Amino acid sequence: MTTAFGSAAVAESAQDRVKILLVDDSPENLVSLEAALESLGQELVLAHSGMEALRQLLEDDFAAILLDVKMPELDGFQTAELIRARRRSRHTPILFLTAYKSDEHLFRGYDMGAVDFLFKPIVPEILRSKVSVFVDLSRNNALLRRQTEALKKTEQKFRSLLEAAPDAMIISTADGEITLVNSQVEAMFGFRREEVIGRGIELLVPDRDPASPGAHQQVTARRKDGSLFPAEVTVSPLQTEEGLLITSAIRDVTERVKRDEEIRELNARLEQRVAERTRELLQVNQALMQSNEDLNQFAYAASHDLQEPLRMIALYSEMLERQYAGKLDSEADRYIRFVINGAHRMEMLLKDLLAYSQAGSAAGPAAPVSCAAVLEKVLLNLRASIEQNQAEVSWEGLPVVEADEIRMVQLFQNLVGNAIKYRSKEPPRIRITAQQREADWLFSVEDNGIGIRPEYSQQVFGIFKRLHGHTYPGTGIGLAICQRIVERYGGRIWVESALGKGSKFCFTLPPAVVRQRAARTD
Ligand code: ADP
Repeated sequence: MTTAFGSAAVAESAQDRVKILLVDDSPENLVSLEAALESLGQELVLAHSGMEALRQLLEDDFAAILLDVKMPELDGFQTAELIRARRRSRHTPILFLTAYKSDEHLFRGYDMGAVDFLFKPIVPEILRSKVSVFVDLSRNNALLRRQTEALKKTEQKFRSLLEAAPDAMIISTADGEITLVNSQVEAMFGFRREEVIGRGIELLVPDRDPASPGAHQQVTARRKDGSLFPAEVTVSPLQTEEGLLITSAIRDVTERVKRDEEIRELNARLEQRVAERTRELLQVNQALMQSNEDLNQFAYAASHDLQEPLRMIALYSEMLERQYAGKLDSEADRYIRFVINGAHRMEMLLKDLLAYSQAGSAAGPAAPVSCAAVLEKVLLNLRASIEQNQAEVSWEGLPVVEADEIRMVQLFQNLVGNAIKYRSKEPPRIRITAQQREADWLFSVEDNGIGIRPEYSQQVFGIFKRLHGHTYPGTGIGLAICQRIVERYGGRIWVESALGKGSKFCFTLPPAVVRQRAARTD
């Protein structure tokens, strides 16, 4: 605790003058007193009677009073008695001015504290030296008062700061002896203040480490009833005039510890749940994959095994037609044709169904395949239809992909084949592009054909889904196969189109599948 000791003293001597009350019924005497004291540089207040002096004392405090003993009405002694009777002026030094030595004895009878006598005729030097002693005295008193006041304020401030702190605050000596605590300590620990003052701080926080100031320490604190609770202690040194003190701010962290524990538990439970869910999902996925595989095998077996009897039907109905056409009635001829057509259509369906059931799995190993080379093959396969329709197929910027070549040929052939098949009156113009995006590659096959109503843009990828009935040949499986292939490689397929505006089939492939961009091939 520091005070403004030095600075107050300097301010005092620089500007504050003290007041001295001069009381005499003779104006001449007052003038000569004034003249004698002028050089002291203090403020001199004059009073011509005891009454006037008392009035002045009501208004002001004086460092000293010079009091003529012999005055009409109230004499000096009576005036002094009244001065002493008042609290405010009880201790103001009085210097009696008298002509009679006997007055001194007379006054000794009253025990009035700080008084002195000066005998007339007054010797100015003696007067000055006596008065200056009183001036110094008064100055020192004032200073002392101010210091005490300041000290009291500082201490009050300190105590109220301590009280205002949200934590339990303990001030201890460097040895750990508790010297001051706030009321939060009482509330937190169940001790009364006087029970802990003078005791060692380990009474409250047994494992506090005074050697690591500033840091938050996690400790176990102990209440009066012996119960323990988790606490956080912040230790900081406090330099005072009485030496080094240690403040320890203690916070009860029971709630926080509980909350942390709850969160930890919650997290653990959550993790467990996630692990369980993941396991379940994996199982479901496995089951799904299994049933998918079963279905595939079934579709494969069914379409494969159906082919044989179907071939028999086709073969024998064709033989029937060859041998008996025109020999039965015309009705019978028509029926035989229906059987033959039905058998052929069913053959086609079975072939495509077989292809579809296989599209989800690799026909050969994944290897670097140039999409441009794939398209060359596709053009070769579709040569007749391209020539017949005077179609033009162009491509640019196609990359090399890591895939099964047969599947890539199937994918592009289905898309290019459709682009030619669903042509408009204009000769087909088909453009194929590929473009690298942030997370994947985007391929597109664009035509100038009849287009697709946007409301059917999902449906066309469904198995056996066809928009144009018997106008165009087909089984409605081509796009379903495309979707299966793209999805097998982790991509997505969709169509952007409007009726009469051509179609743009788009699909993506992840970068893991796409290796690099090949040189431009047109
Ligand atoms: P398919 O061609 O054998 O009918 P797909 O699965 O290949 O079967 O196509 C499904 C349907 O989508 C087609 O019947 C057709 O109506 C429509 N379609 C496919 N490609 C195009 C295209 N490029 N332009 C317009 N319609 C198309």
